[in-house]
Parts: sequence; C-alpha cells; structure tokens
Amino acid sequence: MASKGLQNVLHQLVKANHILHYHGAVDGFGHISVRHPERPNVYVMCGYMPPALVQSEDDLIEYYVNGSDPVDKNAKNGYSERFIHGELFNKYPSIQCVVHSHAEAVLPYVSSTVPLKPMFHMGGFLGTTVPVWDIAPVYDEDYQQDMLVNNAKLGNSLASSFAPTTTKSDDLEHNVVLMKRHGYTTWGKDIPTAVYRAIYTLINAGLQTKAAMLQATLHDGPLEGLSERHCRDCQKMNEATQDKSWRLWSREVEVNPIYRNDIPA
Ligand SMILES: [Zn+2]
Repeated sequence: MASKGLQNVLHQLVKANHILHYHGAVDGFGHISVRHPERPNVYVMCGYMPPALVQSEDDLIEYYVNGSDPVDKNAKNGYSERFIHGELFNKYPSIQCVVHSHAEAVLPYVSSTVPLKPMFHMGGFLGTTVPVWDIAPVYDEDYQQDMLVNNAKLGNSLASSFAPTTTKSDDLEHNVVLMKRHGYTTWGKDIPTAVYRAIYTLINAGLQTKAAMLQATLHDGPLEGLSERHCRDCQKMNEATQDKSWRLWSREVEVNPIYRNDIPA
C-alpha cells in the first residue's frame, strides 16, 4: 500500500502526463519522470505508451537512478530514452522531475543555428543562454545513430550540458537544454515546476518565431530578449506564480474525458 505522500506524487505524475499532452509538449512521444519521494535512488515514469493514456499505477515503472534498470526485473517494456531521466537524477540530487519533449514550436531552434532566447516575462527561467547539446560527437561509430538518448553514456553527456562549467554535483546552470535535431529537456524541483518550464519553453519558442518574422519586415536587426537581470527576477516570479497555471491545467485535464487518473489525490 503506497503512503499518502507517494500516492500524491503518483497522482500528480499521471496528471502531468495529461497536462503535457493537452498543451502540445508531448504527443505519442515525449515523457516525464519523477524521483521517488521515499527512495531517492529510484525514479518513476510510465511504460511504453502515449502519455495521454497513462491512467493507473499499473502503467508506471520504477527504475534505479544509477543505470536506469527497472527495479522489478519483470517490468513491462519502458521508454528507450529513460536514460535522459536516470542520468539527470543521478548527476543532480536537487532534480525531482524531468520532462523530455519534441514540441513542434521548439523544433526550428534545434534544426537551425538561431539561438532560443527568453522573449517575455514568463520565459525568464530560460536564462540568457539556452545550450544546444549535440549527440553526434558522443556516438560510438558502430552504434545506431537515430538521435535517441538510449544508453547511460549518451544520457550522461546530455546531463553534463546542464552544468558545463560547475564542479559541484548539485549546481545546475541551465533549466532547459535543447537537443540538436531532436527536442529539449527540462527539470524541476517538483512536478509543477518541470511542467511549467516544458510548456513555457514551447510558448516562448512560438513567440520568438513570430516576433522574428515581424522584426524582419523592419530590416532592423536581431530580436532583443530578456537581460540577465530580467531572467533572474522573472524566474523568481515564474516560480512564485506557477501554482495558478497548475490549478488551471489540472482542471482542464480533469474535465476532459480522454484523460483518466485512477490514482487518488
Ligand atoms: Zn526524444
């Protein structure tokens, strides 16, 4: 029998799968995981299925943070890209939730060399520089090079790009990392924070694309994003007010019959 605390987290995890789908951060692909609230060396995510259809504890799988093997050796099939999650949890003890997405609005920024910038106050958490991680140089020559982060070496390399210059294991410089020709990954100290970042990364990217097209009509130089000070202060505001988004997003998926959540809150 799961404790109340664990049950709450698993309820939130199922709901977060639905919210990410409702807002276009995931479709058949993309995933969210959470660190186990009682066993920090374990994380939980759904098995091989579309996030919108996650419904009950039976759909969830526990993995060891170190190595991403399933806790239950007979667990059903899981996501091949779970190493994104495992390696981030393994490297950074402060991370409690990880989201990986291929959201369409962000794809131009992983397919071109135009840098993603924080364009408005809700995107302050992006910081002035959003790194782009490239899987290509990390591959072993004889490995299937399909862009998927499907082993610990690839996951570890991606995880390192969240803190490229710091040596402290818990000190992240970046909240979002773009993945060249693939998508992006973000994290949070809890589920609502990671979901907020995943959704506002795609909203910010859509805004930047539109603003760049508009700006081009003036032939007036590149777009100006938030300053470093703005980013820092906006992130504080983002974290202080994101509960309002979470309440709205929760209700949206609670009343939509495509989404079912059997785990009590
Ligand atoms: Zn992916």
